[in-house]
Amino acid sequence: MSGTFVGMPAFPRAAREAVRDTTLRGNLRHATRTIRDKRARAVAELDDWAALREAGKQIKDHTLRHLDRYLVQVEEAVTAAGGTVHWAADADEANEIVARLVEETGESEVVKVKSMATQEIALNEALEARGVHAYETDLAELIVQLGKDRPSHILVPAIHRNRGEIRDIFRSEMSEWGRPAPENLTDTPAELAEAARLHLREKFLRAKVGISGANFVVAETGTLVVVESEGNGRMCLTLPETLISVVGIEKIVPRWQDLEVFLQTLPRSSTAERMNPYTSMWTGTTDEDGPRTFHLVLLDNGRTDTLADEVGRQALRCIRCSACLNVCPVYERAGGHAYGSVYPGPIGAILSPQLRGTGSEIDASLPYASSLCGACYEVCPVAIDIPEVLVHLRERVVQGGPAVRGGNRVVLKPAKGHAAERAAMRAAQWAFTRPGALRAGQRLASRTRRLHPRTLPGPGRAWSGSRDLPAVPAEPFRDWWQRTRGGKDGAK
Ligand code: SF4
Repeated sequence: MSGTFVGMPAFPRAAREAVRDTTLRGNLRHATRTIRDKRARAVAELDDWAALREAGKQIKDHTLRHLDRYLVQVEEAVTAAGGTVHWAADADEANEIVARLVEETGESEVVKVKSMATQEIALNEALEARGVHAYETDLAELIVQLGKDRPSHILVPAIHRNRGEIRDIFRSEMSEWGRPAPENLTDTPAELAEAARLHLREKFLRAKVGISGANFVVAETGTLVVVESEGNGRMCLTLPETLISVVGIEKIVPRWQDLEVFLQTLPRSSTAERMNPYTSMWTGTTDEDGPRTFHLVLLDNGRTDTLADEVGRQALRCIRCSACLNVCPVYERAGGHAYGSVYPGPIGAILSPQLRGTGSEIDASLPYASSLCGACYEVCPVAIDIPEVLVHLRERVVQGGPAVRGGNRVVLKPAKGHAAERAAMRAAQWAFTRPGALRAGQRLASRTRRLHPRTLPGPGRAWSGSRDLPAVPAEPFRDWWQRTRGGKDGAK
């Protein structure tokens, strides 16, 4: 079983630990720079990239506006095609549904396609508690699972590992899970891939139940789409007798034609490929072809609460390409684990506090895990204005809510650790609503400016230790304005 994110410390503490790890920083720097340079070249090949980006944004916004209608359409289409649709309000409900469906097959093993939704609800851990072993089949997920590790990137969950570390994990752990790694395994990519291929092939051929997520669900036909690079997904989607797909309700697109946009923008933004090596699509069940039984679990888990927020809802446009992670200077140094969620980087900083609420220390700290440089917005293929949402969520944290997810009802709970900021804001409000007092204070500050300390005392010392305090001018602006312009300045 992989490690979980439960009980992670706030981002600043976790990040401080992470940046001390020079191996981690080296692995991340090398990997993120390589991917982002390749992405930039792949995107530059298309003359109509800006139009595709706008089209993706419009399709997603339209779908989210009419989600109630499209969800019903999906249910009808999947049912008509021989599948069964289940509705899960939260992680516990989704895990219960999946565990029951697996138990009904009488199996105690499942193979999994890489899926963020199932990681979000900690499905592997829930199945393990019911005596069902879930085997990850994506190479990077396999490395994370064998290493009893946590994912640190949406697309490349083992990005924090180098080849030598992966070889050591294969050598020491593979035998515990199935076919052992070959003796004398080296760290060459071909040998590592072959070891994983042999190890996984056994699982594909034995498994009777497959579990997946989906990149898209087409409402008009009830078709699910999974894009991937390794072919493991194709094996999990076609070989087992039963297929269970857990999909967030925001993954819907209305029409087949909409895939034309996303099947261009997603591969170029994620793996810098012109198209995915494997694109699997299935609609319900088909006689004598693929799984006999198909279940679709539609997952809410905080998404309708997110949808209710006019600024924050744009996070639901996300197609999980990871481009924002690869350009983020904070992610490059702190790594993915510091975000305390399966969604790291800039998208994690705006998605996790909305899906989970800002009631915990880690979720209240995430909107601050950014320099607001805007690089994430520039590369996002569905134009999510991540800095705008970060600032919006900071406001929510400072004001103390909505902190706890509670169905359609928002439960207010004061956020911790921002008392000083709130006191400073209240003092500013007092001064700015009393012009006479403000002017007197400014004059006093100007007259005594040579006596002002260059560093702040007490807890403010840490802040001023790495910043220069702005110098107070010899004459307040309002006095200067009145002296030089002579007119009314409204400051009286
Ligand atoms: S926020 Fe945009 S750039 Fe980041 S993972 Fe989602 S779609 Fe990709």
